[in-house]
Amino acid sequence: VRRLSIALVHHPVLDAKNEVVTSTLTTMDVHDLSRSARTYGCERFYIVHPIPAQRALGARIIDHWTHGSSAKRIPDRKDALAIVTIVSTLEDAVNDMTRDGASEEDRARVWVTAARTIGPSMSWSDARAELSSDGPPLLLVFGTSWGLAPAVVEGADALLAPIHGTGEWNHLSVRAACAIALDRLAGC
Ligand code: SAM
Repeated sequence: VRRLSIALVHHPVLDAKNEVVTSTLTTMDVHDLSRSARTYGCERFYIVHPIPAQRALGARIIDHWTHGSSAKRIPDRKDALAIVTIVSTLEDAVNDMTRDGASEEDRARVWVTAARTIGPSMSWSDARAELSSDGPPLLLVFGTSWGLAPAVVEGADALLAPIHGTGEWNHLSVRAACAIALDRLAGC
């Protein structure tokens, strides 16, 4: 099985007017996605944020729950947050996943997700088959605000098909989407 990590991108993302913006780090995203990532055997959960103060906020949350009073109160959470890595750009996450000296074909592959059909997409069954085969590590990328900016989607190796429920209404939180995506890719 290939190495799998997830990333939560706060820039570049879209706002309601389809402009490229930077979103605010949300504490519950840090906790929720780290628990899902740990549950499904992800190596790391990369928080991508270009603003230093926001990265410092993320580091404080992690420090509080891995070394502070909450770490003593809820030790299990420490294990989940231990896989969180805070970086400035998605490229930093790809570089961090790609072993030193790895050749180009061993470079981590970027798979992006979106709530709407924004281009030719890979099915979840094909993605699951790819994950269980041999190959370079995979970075599954989630957006915030109104979704990943086109630059991220265009630069990715694959776009996964939107997760669909039963009807037209489809507005999953990133926390729900991440858990469903990981279960489709790596769940028993
Ligand atoms: N502010 C919102 C929140 O708190 O959840 C964030 C919305 S953001 C657009 C949700 C992200 O989760 C998307 O960028 C995408 O990565 C993922 N996502 C949401 N719905 C999805 C779906 N139906 N299929 C695949 N990914 C989805």
